[in-house]
Amino acid sequence: MKAAQFAYHRPGTVAEATQMLAEFGDEAKILAGGQSLVPMLAMRLTYFENLIDISRVDELKNIELRGDELIVAAGTPHAFVGMDDEVADSVPLLTLATPHIGHFQIRTRGTLGGAIAHGDPAAEYAAAALALDATIEATSQRGRRDIPAAEFFTGLWETSLAADEILTAVRFPVWGGRSGFAVEEFARRHGDFAIAGATVAVELDDDDRVARCGIGLLGLGSTPLRGSAAEEAVVGQNVGAVTAEEVGRLAIGGLTDIPSDLQGSADYRSRVGAAMVTRAWTAAIRQAQTSETEAIHA
Ligand SMILES: Cc1cc2nc3c(=O)[nH]c(=O)nc-3n(C[C@H](O)[C@H](O)[C@H](O)COP(=O)(O)OP(=O)(O)OC[C@H]3O[C@@H](n4cnc5c(N)ncnc54)[C@H](O)[C@@H]3O)c2cc1C
Repeated sequence: MKAAQFAYHRPGTVAEATQMLAEFGDEAKILAGGQSLVPMLAMRLTYFENLIDISRVDELKNIELRGDELIVAAGTPHAFVGMDDEVADSVPLLTLATPHIGHFQIRTRGTLGGAIAHGDPAAEYAAAALALDATIEATSQRGRRDIPAAEFFTGLWETSLAADEILTAVRFPVWGGRSGFAVEEFARRHGDFAIAGATVAVELDDDDRVARCGIGLLGLGSTPLRGSAAEEAVVGQNVGAVTAEEVGRLAIGGLTDIPSDLQGSADYRSRVGAAMVTRAWTAAIRQAQTSETEAIHA
C-alpha cells in the first residue's frame, strides 16, 4: 500500500516551519525521521494534506549541556544521542535507552523529538523523560512554552502539543551525587516495541537512603507512565527497607488500563512489567552504590 497524495514542504528554519503550521492548521503534520509517521501514512492509518519536513533544519540538531540541564534539540537522531559522550556522562539513562529503540537503521533516521512527540506508550525516551522529570519545549508563532513531561502525554499517540506547535527541544535534568540508572524491557524479538519495560533513575544519600527516584513504565497503559506508588514508597527509606520485588509490585499496582492484545493479556503484561521494574531497580541501586559509570561508556 502507498500513502495518499500530500503536499511536501521543506522549511530551513524553525520560524519557517511554525509559519507553515500556523497557515495549514490541522491539515499539516511535521515529518521528522519518518520512522513512525511514514508507515502510518503508507498503511493509511492517518492522512494529512501537508507534510512539513524538518529534517534539514540545522538548529534542531544539537546536544548541549547548560548548567544542570542537558538540552537535546528535537531533530537529533537517536544514534547521535546514543553515541554522545556528554549524554553518557550527564544523562546516562538516555544512553542506556537508545539501543532498545528499534534497529540501527531506525535509530539513524528517527529523532528524539519524534519519539517523544509521537507519544507511543512503549517509547523508551518518553519513559526516560518521565522518570527524570524532563521539560519539553514547544514553539509556535505565538512563542515558546515549557511543558513538564508529566503533563505531556495525554492518550494513545496523543500529546499536549497544539496543532501549530513544534517540539523544539527536551531539557533533561542532570542527576548528581550517588545516582544509578537502568532500562529493562521485554520484547519477543530484538528491535520490536517492548511488551512491557521500565526506566529507573535513583539517587542515594551518604547513608544509603533513597533521596530521589523516578520510575518510567513502558507498554503498560495508553501512554508512557510513572510508577508513582513505588517511588513514594522508597523515597526517604533505606535501600534495603523495600525489596526489589515489592518495588516492582508497587509500580504496577495502581495501573488501571494495562493493554490486552495479541502480544499478551493485561495480566501477563503486568507480571512482565513488575519483573522489569524489579530488575531495573536492582541494577540502578547497584550502580548508585558502586558508581559503575564506566559500564555505560562500554
Ligand atoms: C520496526 C520499528 C521498530 C520501532 N521500535 C521502536 C521502539 O522500540 N521504541 C521507540 O521508541 N520507537 C520505536 N520505533 C519508532 C521510532 O523510534 C521512531 O523514530 C520514532 O517513534 C519517531 O521519530 P521520527 O523522528 O521518525 O518521527 P516521525 O515518524 O517523523 O514522526 C512521528 C510523529 O511525531 C511528530 N513529530 C516528529 N517530530 C516532531 C517535532 N519536532 N515536533 C512536533 N511533532 C513532531 C510527527 O508529526 C508524527 O506525528 C520503531 C519504528 C519501527 C519502524
